[in-house]
Amino acid sequence: MHELSVAHAIVSTVVEALSEDSPRVLEVRVRIGVLSGVVPEALTYAYDVAAQATPLADAALHIERAPVVIHCAPCDADRILLGTTDFTCSACGAPSNDVRDGKDMEILSLVLEDEPAVVSP
Ligand SMILES: [Zn+2]
Repeated sequence: MHELSVAHAIVSTVVEALSEDSPRVLEVRVRIGVLSGVVPEALTYAYDVAAQATPLADAALHIERAPVVIHCAPCDADRILLGTTDFTCSACGAPSNDVRDGKDMEILSLVLEDEPAVVSP
């Protein structure tokens, strides 16, 4: 299961970044490209499994979806695609397979306890 290995990678990366006296983590925010092949619902479930018995056991996973961005050579501009099937420039209609975003997954930030700057829902 692809999502489980992704979830384990998220958990181990975050846990390694925490120090002994780090505040409790309330939320882990990640950004997932729509072309990454990761299904958000499956990742949420896998994360709950992967986070068990770790400092992240009580931390929620917040997933942000990153749309596909292609670079249009004729326009010399990056275009955000609405879907994942039609790889053409929204301005001039030229096809492009120069994908600049939407393929990767990254950890954006952590919401920590006792951190007044961050408002948690
Ligand atoms: Zn164009």
